Amino acid sequence: MGFPTNAKILTVDDMATMRKIIKSLLTQLGYTDVEEAENGKDALYKLKQNKYDLVLLDWNMPEMDGITFLQEIRKDPELKNIPVIMVTAEAKKENVLLAIQSGANNYIVKPFTAETLKEKMDKVWQQINGG
Ligand SMILES: [Mg+2]
Repeated sequence: MGFPTNAKILTVDDMATMRKIIKSLLTQLGYTDVEEAENGKDALYKLKQNKYDLVLLDWNMPEMDGITFLQEIRKDPELKNIPVIMVTAEAKKENVLLAIQSGANNYIVKPFTAETLKEKMDKVWQQINGG
């Protein structure tokens, strides 16, 4: 079991190429309702306009980075339960720890395959649905 294919997903990354790659991986997995934001500030704005089922979040971004965005939404009663998978080039233990402490549901290291993405998404789905 995992996110239904009609799930609304927001991919947040400052690099257009990366957003395109993630979007294409999601398409391969059957997810077509995918929107993009280029930094935390932009993502925060989008989250307030629309209901999303999952956020795929880059770490390093201008304006507002991934960790700050994550801490902001976890403090917000309206947004705090949105599942977030942190997507980053850094696999350092302290980074993973900080992401988890800040409220990330899971963590994925770039570059990754559609299969890995699906695995992480399934884990998050199980986590939020008490599996
Ligand atoms: Mg970045």
